[in-house]
Amino acid sequence: MLLDLRTIYFIVAVSCFVLGILQLAAYATGRFERWPLWWGLSNLLVGVGSFLVALRNLVPYSVSVDGGNIVTIAGYMLMFFAVRVFAGRALNQRYFWLAIFLVSVPVALIVSDPSAVSARLLYVSVICCLCDLAVASEAVGVARREKLYSAVLLVGLYVCTAMIFAVRSILAATGEIGGPDPFGGSVVHSWMAVSAVAFIMLRGMAMVLMAAERSRNQLTELAHHDPLTGALNRGGLAQRLPALGSQPVSLLIIDIDHFKQLNDRHGHASGDDILRLFASVSRSIMGSNDLLARQGGDEFLVVLKDVSGQDAVAIAERIRLAFAAAVLHQPDLAVFPTLSIGVATRGKSGGDFEQLIKKADEALYRSKREGRNRVKAFGENQQAA
Ligand code: GH3
Ligand code: MG
Repeated sequence: MLLDLRTIYFIVAVSCFVLGILQLAAYATGRFERWPLWWGLSNLLVGVGSFLVALRNLVPYSVSVDGGNIVTIAGYMLMFFAVRVFAGRALNQRYFWLAIFLVSVPVALIVSDPSAVSARLLYVSVICCLCDLAVASEAVGVARREKLYSAVLLVGLYVCTAMIFAVRSILAATGEIGGPDPFGGSVVHSWMAVSAVAFIMLRGMAMVLMAAERSRNQLTELAHHDPLTGALNRGGLAQRLPALGSQPVSLLIIDIDHFKQLNDRHGHASGDDILRLFASVSRSIMGSNDLLARQGGDEFLVVLKDVSGQDAVAIAERIRLAFAAAVLHQPDLAVFPTLSIGVATRGKSGGDFEQLIKKADEALYRSKREGRNRVKAFGENQQAA
């Protein structure tokens, strides 16, 4: 072995200090959420814990071993807390500090006997293993909910370290490590401590990658959606169209009637409320895979996947009637906006989406010309209302 265990513990401590200070500095910029604060503090605690353990036989036992292990456990649990905060599932801080207290106290009370090195190693390893598994399961949740690929990386790293702690627990339980002189040259123990440095760094990088991937996803979402109604904007729709391929779709183009008059009479804020109302009414009727996009102003597109022309006209009718009913429940309205809707359908043979828009647009203008507040389908056989 090139390095003795004491030196390796010092290296772990210095690595944790550097990482913790970087994360706290990142938090201090105010450009991040709260998780770098907890993550940074957790690294500092693990660093202090490793530093104290490295001072074994140089300072009183209660400071180096008891103190070191208690601080390390607190640091590990804080890491779990940091990942919960990242996942938006922060724990009540009061219970969390209580949990840290309850889990760390046995180190001092139950295994404070200096000769019980194996028992203490077993206890600390089991706690660290459980913390790592808890972090891995939180990261699985983040990967599933937010589709963050880097969260899968974090899961892999934490499962690896949980396995290392599990092996360490078994070795401690069988007395293979943790003899009277724990710095006395157990090669396996030394390699486990060396791997800790690599994993501490990799976990930090995985968290940064997760934050970067999340903020990229959030920016893409913002760039592709209309902030007022939450509907897709033109860019968002264009980005989703290729996924339709040549699958049959029906398209509704919907324009709110006399919207300008409503704005003039009740003000822009009231107009905004009606736009939001329209979006929520439409969503309640569309399927979860269908698309709602705002073309601009008071004009919207609804893309219905695998829906025949006849069914599309029926859905358009339901949207028109539901909107009319919802508007009646709006307080203090003197102008009751209605919907004009044009419908066009593309069959199994596929076809250009631009052509579909032109056809639906033509149908929409027919419904405007014929008196508004109605649904018109492109082509003779698809007439409605
Ligand atoms: P028509 O029945 O022919 O559709 O007439 P209209 O009054 O609805 O007229 P038009 O569709 O041409 O006008 C749309 C209006 O929508 C004009 C614009 O002031 C208003 N508008 C566009 N964007 C917004 C918005 O984000 N909020 C609000 N409140 N009004 C908007
Ligand atoms: Mg209009």
